[in-house]
Amino acid sequence: TSLSAELQARMRDVPDFPRPGIVFKDITPVLADPVLFPRLIQALAEPFRDQRITKVVGVEARGFILGAPVALALNAGFVPARKPGKLPSRTVTERYALEYGTDALEMHQDAVLRGERTLIVDDVLATGGTAEATAKLIAQVGGELVGFSFLIALGFLDGVKRLGAHHVHRLITL
Ligand code: 5GP
Repeated sequence: TSLSAELQARMRDVPDFPRPGIVFKDITPVLADPVLFPRLIQALAEPFRDQRITKVVGVEARGFILGAPVALALNAGFVPARKPGKLPSRTVTERYALEYGTDALEMHQDAVLRGERTLIVDDVLATGGTAEATAKLIAQVGGELVGFSFLIALGFLDGVKRLGAHHVHRLITL
């Protein structure tokens, strides 16, 4: 079977999490598998191996778990994009709309240098709001966004519309 099919078989659908009516894709069984986890990381990195990526930005919190080993696989540095108030030094901030209200992401101002070739990694692309905000953080500091790598794209067409002309790599499309 293909890697995508194996990954999909190992993920769990959790109904009514974190709120009634939401079916949450639980990726923790994939992370806990000592064979599937490294294959997942290689597959997330694969299209970007020859892209001279020097920074991988991972989005709190599952984007940290996937982004850090992808950075190692690409010989790049790792940069966390975090919820407000978590990063200790000078930050840039992007606010984005949620279904109800707004949220924000922050990144250290000096974490991505002007012109640095940067990849964004997260577990799930849904509306694209989180990924779009992360791209704007990189734009604020003058980084060069090369693309995005996701384990799962839900409602891919809606999400990808917000991500512009960049390369959007995903292993499973639902
Ligand atoms: P978006 O901003 O594209 O609507 O949502 C994507 C963000 O929400 C990602 O950071 C992702 O981790 C999280 N997310 C949304 N839905 C799910 C889900 O069903 N499973 C997991 N694991 N994460 C989700």
